[in-house]
Amino acid sequence: MPPPRSPEELNALILRVHEAGLQACVHSNGDREIEMLLNAFERALKQKPRANHRHRIEHCSVVTEALLQRIKNLAIVVVPHSYIWEHGDKMENYGAWRWDWMHPARSLVDLGIPMAGHSDDPVSAADPLLRIQDMVTRTSAEGKVYGARQRISAEEALRAWTVGGAYASFEEDRKGSITSGKLADFVVLSDDETVRKINCPFGKAICCGWSAMRIWVAIS
Ligand SMILES: [Zn+2]
Repeated sequence: MPPPRSPEELNALILRVHEAGLQACVHSNGDREIEMLLNAFERALKQKPRANHRHRIEHCSVVTEALLQRIKNLAIVVVPHSYIWEHGDKMENYGAWRWDWMHPARSLVDLGIPMAGHSDDPVSAADPLLRIQDMVTRTSAEGKVYGARQRISAEEALRAWTVGGAYASFEEDRKGSITSGKLADFVVLSDDETVRKINCPFGKAICCGWSAMRIWVAIS
């Protein structure tokens, strides 16, 4: 599928967003398109350098080592899919060698690239615990593993879905962690997630939730 814009159009659009002082969040999946987008980010940042821009790539589904290095160098935030549970079979056509370069959570963690979780609902279920399980197991509902090399730990996935999400939207001062003064939107799981993280969906394990309150105690 060809990219929807020419490189020149994309460069101009990204520059406009960047120069307006906004955060660009760009849906981009294929490696050719991601390269175009990185070229556009690079040009805009060269023309008008800005620290802490947090420009984002939504999905960033198919990458290479070189693209990941450029993403790191440009301080881009990545919001990868974690939909193998529902859509692993759609990765079949890419071939097994590429599965290790798709939805590259392990590479993002190892390179220290900021990452946030998302469901792209209705593309995959808006169920954070299922999405976290997906990042940990990379296993489809049929039981097939796609790209085991990109597995991350339950703790790393949880981080992407909490602190990572808050960072990606400039909200880390009030969301993302259980910290005094932040909003208290959180759930308590009935089991220790580290026990359940290997295989089974931890989807039904919520025993209580707290929302729209504020934390005023220091929790150590
Ligand atoms: Zn999308």
